Amino acid sequence: MVTVNENYLLLKSSYIFSEINRRVEEFQRKNPDADIIRMGIGDVTRPLPEAVVEAFHRAVDEMAEEETFRGYGPEQGYPFLREAIAENDYASRGVDITADEIFISDGAKCDTGNIQEIFGLDNVVAVTDPVYPVYVESNVMAGRAGPADDDGRYSGLVYLPCTEENSFIPSLPEERVDLIYLCYPNNPTGTTLTEKQLAEWVDYARDSGSLILFDAAYEAYIQEDGIPHSIYEVEGAREVAIEFRSFSKNAGFTGTRCAFTVVPEELEVPDSSGRMHSVRELWNRRQTTKFNGVSYPVQRAAEAVYTPEGQREIRESIDYYMENARIIRESLERAGLRYYGGVNAPYIWIRTPEGMDSWQFFDTLLNDAEVVGTPGSGFGPSGEGYFRLTAFNSFRNTVKAMERISELSF
Ligand code: PLP
Repeated sequence: MVTVNENYLLLKSSYIFSEINRRVEEFQRKNPDADIIRMGIGDVTRPLPEAVVEAFHRAVDEMAEEETFRGYGPEQGYPFLREAIAENDYASRGVDITADEIFISDGAKCDTGNIQEIFGLDNVVAVTDPVYPVYVESNVMAGRAGPADDDGRYSGLVYLPCTEENSFIPSLPEERVDLIYLCYPNNPTGTTLTEKQLAEWVDYARDSGSLILFDAAYEAYIQEDGIPHSIYEVEGAREVAIEFRSFSKNAGFTGTRCAFTVVPEELEVPDSSGRMHSVRELWNRRQTTKFNGVSYPVQRAAEAVYTPEGQREIRESIDYYMENARIIRESLERAGLRYYGGVNAPYIWIRTPEGMDSWQFFDTLLNDAEVVGTPGSGFGPSGEGYFRLTAFNSFRNTVKAMERISELSF
C-alpha cells in the first residue's frame, strides 16, 4: 500500500493567508462600498523594463526560425547569462565569483527550498525568527524539524529571535548548528546587517564548520553604504556560504521566473567517514538530475537587466517602490507607530501598539483604514506583536492608504 511521507503531516497549515482572505472577504461583504487597499503582498506591481521586454521578444523570434531555434539548454544556465552575472553583480564590486560557480534557476524559492536536499538529515538547522517560511517548511518536509508546538515552533530547529530587543540582529547560537539560513535585506523585517555584523557570522561558520545559506533576493533595495550586497564581500565567505539571488524583486520577474544560486568552488562538506565533497559538484548533480534549465527567452530577458538601459529602468522601479516606502515610514511616524525597515528593503515592520497583538492590529487597520497587511505572527513565533506592510503597491494607493492610517491615532 502506498503511504504518505509523514513529514508532510508535521507542516502547519498555511493558516495565515487563508485567514487574511477570510477576514477581508467578510469585511467586504458587510461593507460592499469599502475601497480596500492591499499592502500585504510581497509581489511587484511594475511591468518588466522595456530593455528586458525587447530582449525577450527578440529571443522568442529566434525560437521561431530553424537556424536560431534552441532546444534544451545547459541545466546550469547559458554562459552568456552566467558571465553577465559574474561581471556585473560580482566583479564590479570587487568580488571574485566565476561563471561556473553560478547556477541559473527559475526562482530563489525553489533554490532555497531545494538546497537542503544535498545535506545530511542529521544536520541541525538554524533560522532567524521571524522568517521567510520556505526555509522552515522545506526542512520539515525533509524530516529535520520534528513536530511543532502550539506557537508553530518546531522542536528540531534552532530559532534565532530577531526583535526590537536585539535590534533585529540575531545572536550567534549557543548550541551547535550546521546549516544557517540568513536573509538580508530581510523579509519580513526589512532590516539589514552591516558588513561587520555579517562578518561575525562568517567567522562563526568558519570556526564551527557550519554553512551559511544567504538569501539576498532583496539586495537591489540597499540604499545605504556599509551594507554588503553579497555575503562574498565578507572575507572568508567563499569557504562557508552559498548565496541566492533573484530577478524577481529587482527586475519584476516574479511572473517571468529567473534567479540564480552561487556555490563557490572551495565549499566542501564531509561524509560520515570524514571524506570531503565539493558542494558545487553536489548541487550540479542535483540540478542536472532534477532540473532542465530556464527557457532561452527568459535567460535573454534576464541578460538585458545588465544593459545600461536595463540598469536605468530597474533603478527607476526600485526608486518608485522606495518612494512608497518613504511615504509609509513618514505616515507611520505621524500615526505614532514604531516601525523598522523600509530604508534598504521594500518591507516595513511595524511594532503593534501596546496591548494589541498582530491579528488585533490587522482588524484595526482593516476596519478603520480599509488597509490590509500581514500579521507578523505568520512569519514565526517572534513575529507576534509585529505587522508587515510592503512598498509594492502603486504610488496612488500607497498615498491613499497612508493618509487613512495617518488619521488614526495609537
Ligand atoms: N527569498 C525571499 C526572502 C523572498 O521573500 C522571496 C519571495 O517573496 C523569494 C526568495 C522568492 O523569490 P523567487 O521569486 O525568485 O522565487
